[in-house]
Amino acid sequence: MTRRLIVVGGGLAGITAALAAADAGMSVTLLEGRPRLGGATFSFRRDGRWLDNGQHVFLRCCTAYRGFLDRIGTAHLVELQDRLDVPVLTPWGTTGRLHRSGLPSPLHLSAALSRYPFLTLAGRARVGVAAMALKRLDPDDPKLDETTFGAWLDRFGVTGRERAAMWDLVGVATLNLTAEHASLAMAVKVFRTGLLDTNDGADIGWSRVPLQQLHGDAAQRALEDAKVDVRLRTRVSALDVLPEGGFTVAADGATVSGDAVVLAVPHEDAARLLPPGALLLGDRPADPTVLAGLGSSPIVNLHVVYDRPVFDHEFAAGLASPVQWVFDRSANLGLPRGRYLAVSHSAADAEIDMTHQQLRERYLPALERLLPAARDARVEEFVVTKERTATFRAAPGSGRLRPHAHTAVPGLALAGAWTATGWPATMEGAVRSGLAAAEATIPGRVLPTTPPGAFPERTTTP
Ligand SMILES: Cc1cc2nc3c(=O)[nH]c(=O)nc-3n(C[C@H](O)[C@H](O)[C@H](O)COP(=O)(O)OP(=O)(O)OC[C@H]3O[C@@H](n4cnc5c(N)ncnc54)[C@H](O)[C@@H]3O)c2cc1C
Repeated sequence: MTRRLIVVGGGLAGITAALAAADAGMSVTLLEGRPRLGGATFSFRRDGRWLDNGQHVFLRCCTAYRGFLDRIGTAHLVELQDRLDVPVLTPWGTTGRLHRSGLPSPLHLSAALSRYPFLTLAGRARVGVAAMALKRLDPDDPKLDETTFGAWLDRFGVTGRERAAMWDLVGVATLNLTAEHASLAMAVKVFRTGLLDTNDGADIGWSRVPLQQLHGDAAQRALEDAKVDVRLRTRVSALDVLPEGGFTVAADGATVSGDAVVLAVPHEDAARLLPPGALLLGDRPADPTVLAGLGSSPIVNLHVVYDRPVFDHEFAAGLASPVQWVFDRSANLGLPRGRYLAVSHSAADAEIDMTHQQLRERYLPALERLLPAARDARVEEFVVTKERTATFRAAPGSGRLRPHAHTAVPGLALAGAWTATGWPATMEGAVRSGLAAAEATIPGRVLPTTPPGAFPERTTTP
């Protein structure tokens, strides 16, 4: 008999699990509380135009996420740099570049480092020594999750200026925490996989279309093609394990039955829905309330539309500025290049409670200092999007609180960027978790995962 799988949650993790299970021949129902798929990656309409809830980028090393785009048919809607190249802008007008050459790692960064104007000679040497030491660390070593990345950098005499110009520039955007607060284990994962293990891992990719089009809408079509029963606006309020085997899920007055369940919701929701005795942390039973310890870290985005082009890069990082990263999203609104900028601010604990006016007063002058053309331009629109619980807090100790896909209840699996993927809370982590969860619900079956995290071959006809 065909095995029936219920997937709760229609973010990238849930979509992935549903597709992988359907491709493996299961009969799948996906329940999503919101009126759309895509979870934390979505767009909304404002005055007839699409804005994203927050700028999302990926790296070439995000193999599972790129496989996901292939699977839902939208890989052609993203750009991926041939070679990592990031302009770094400053209020005093000097522009640096973080870029790579075609040389093997770590030589691929040596030319950029030697010309990077924001480090002294001694600073460059310290960055080099720390990078070589970091390359020797194992992100899966639990000891690394006991300390912060900042404390580790201190051992190399790295100054605050070097931290800002190099480590936090990359780390804050990927870890959603500053080096001072981030787990060393997560930092090692990001810097090794992105920048040090290969020479092309950190080439940056981004969407050319609104996120809803890239993920949610395309995924809905792919799921329907794979015969997945997608039910939107269906919030699950209870999950029960039946004594005779199998599960029931209560959602908005209805009950759905299945042989297996993937719970692909954020950790706060998983804590509420997990049946007693199901959660395993490091293969030991744990009370779901401990998941609250994963906490959350906010991201704020500012969407600024100017009356003329003010920016001539695809994106850039800011140094000595409140602007961490700025992206040209003009194409999203059908505007000429350089007019609609999305400023993405990670680790936004200080900004999340600022008012619209306070954010305007902080960021518009900061943009003018970085972008001389903005000084004479008129701001036609200034929109703020805030995600208070954008990601879990990748702080020391978070590794112990991230469960693997399998639970103590056979047939019940967990998915989500917050689970033990080895990655920080990213789209890549979400997709990997979905693949692992689908695999955990199929008894005796190991889905082929080559290259790492890739979608398995389909055993059913799409
Ligand atoms: C502003 C912002 C910027 C980001 N930038 C990047 C980036 O540049 N690169 C990157 O890789 N990652 C980025 N991320 C992180 C990335 O978006 C997430 O890690 C990833 O999308 C999480 O996917 P998920 O499926 O694990 O969870 P989610 O996307 O949170 O999906 C969970 C789903 O479960 C649903 N749900 C919850 N409870 C229930 C219930 N009871 N019943 C039914 N459904 C339920 C929710 O509605 C949601 O759709 C960013 C996140 C944000 C918010």
